Amino acid sequence: MPELPEVEVTARALRQAISGCVFQGFRYSGKRLRHAFPRAALGRLIGTPVLSISRRAKYVLLEFEPGWIAVHLGMSGSMEQVRCRDHALGLHDHVMLEFESVKGESRLLVFNDPRRFGSWQWLDRRRAEKSDLGALLGGASSGLEPFDSRFNGQWMAESARSRRVGIKQWLMSGSVVVGVGNIYACESLFEAGIHPLRKASAISRARYDYLANAVRRILQAAIDSGGSTIQNFAGLDGEAGRYGQKHCVYGREGEPCPRCSRPIRRVIIGQRSTFFCHGCQR
Ligand SMILES: [Zn+2]
Repeated sequence: MPELPEVEVTARALRQAISGCVFQGFRYSGKRLRHAFPRAALGRLIGTPVLSISRRAKYVLLEFEPGWIAVHLGMSGSMEQVRCRDHALGLHDHVMLEFESVKGESRLLVFNDPRRFGSWQWLDRRRAEKSDLGALLGGASSGLEPFDSRFNGQWMAESARSRRVGIKQWLMSGSVVVGVGNIYACESLFEAGIHPLRKASAISRARYDYLANAVRRILQAAIDSGGSTIQNFAGLDGEAGRYGQKHCVYGREGEPCPRCSRPIRRVIIGQRSTFFCHGCQR
């Protein structure tokens, strides 16, 4: 499943491909995605330039003057740049966007999503603050971006005071930090030596310092190497990410822990497979 690093890698690739380009049109497969596809809003954007491309939590945001297209990759979504305008949409290709660069070159993007949990939503600038999506994208939800300088051990420890929930579920809830999904929650807790079921309120400030750093370091490493290979994640160029090879615990049940050689365990927490070392994580 695409997590924050894959979304960041996608946003960066899109920035390279279509920054400053003018939107020329789109094709849509007509198949249902997680939310109704905003055909009318996209239609009104034709002929206008992309102002910026950014990421907030796990959304890629394409900014236009009237508002934002918010793309969520869901469980299996990815973007690919294609060369030919007559590119036949494949079985799992749902959206094709066409842009024109300042030099008059055509830039084509295809959104592929076999499981169709991904979404394309329109966020009107005039109504942005009043919607749930707007609240998330505008930062009104309580969780911080992991690369926000305010996200640190102190913030985590203060936010955790009355949280009796387990640390892993809390980390993934979006209430303290946004965009940390299952893989990177497992990996960060391993790096910080914290048991995934430990109560959030029972973790010391010093250990939260480690954890906040671990979350950032692991996400950064994954972004630098182009995202994980989990679920066939590929960058815009179709190149698979390489981070999957570096997971210490995720997907490694029964294999020796890279630190102490005890076998990695798997338990289900909040319906998600959770991998950890019972020797190193307390
Ligand atoms: Zn271990």
